[in-house]
Amino acid sequence: MKRWIPMGNGMSCRQAAKTIQAYIDNELDDDRSALLERHLDACRDCGLELDTYEEIKAALGRQSFELPNETIERLRNFGNELALGEVEGV
Ligand SMILES: [Zn+2]
Repeated sequence: MKRWIPMGNGMSCRQAAKTIQAYIDNELDDDRSALLERHLDACRDCGLELDTYEEIKAALGRQSFELPNETIERLRNFGNELALGEVEGV
């Protein structure tokens, strides 16, 4: 059964996308972290984005930037979507 994604008190995918980086850098307060975690838990797409960022951060931590092609491709698509989203949002 598909899990219900809260819309009222939850976070949209676009908000989540903008929040993930701060989340990984531990720059979010507890409320926003909890909100994002709830969204990531419910939304598979955004969960994948978190995985992507964590892989990048791990790669940076290793001082190497050898990312799997799949990850690079995913990030590129994600960046394109964000760019499109920004245009739409104006
Ligand atoms: Zn989402």
